[in-house]
Amino acid sequence: MDTQNILTLKHRPERCPICGGEVWKILYGEPTVEAYESRIENKIIFGGCCITEHDPAWECIECHVQIYQEED
Ligand SMILES: [Zn+2]
Repeated sequence: MDTQNILTLKHRPERCPICGGEVWKILYGEPTVEAYESRIENKIIFGGCCITEHDPAWECIECHVQIYQEED
């Protein structure tokens, strides 16, 4: 993907604002076996262990747009 779409929202949207696909939560760090096995059921994407100061909170599983959570 060449262009990087960045969205910032307060709450996880029910559907992707771009394509209408499902939006899953991104979980960082080493996943537990339980988390890994229930990833589809719980709609979790694993973001890996590299955590920066500002990582996206959710990702569309269709178009892979990443959504950042707006801080209060
Ligand atoms: Zn999408």
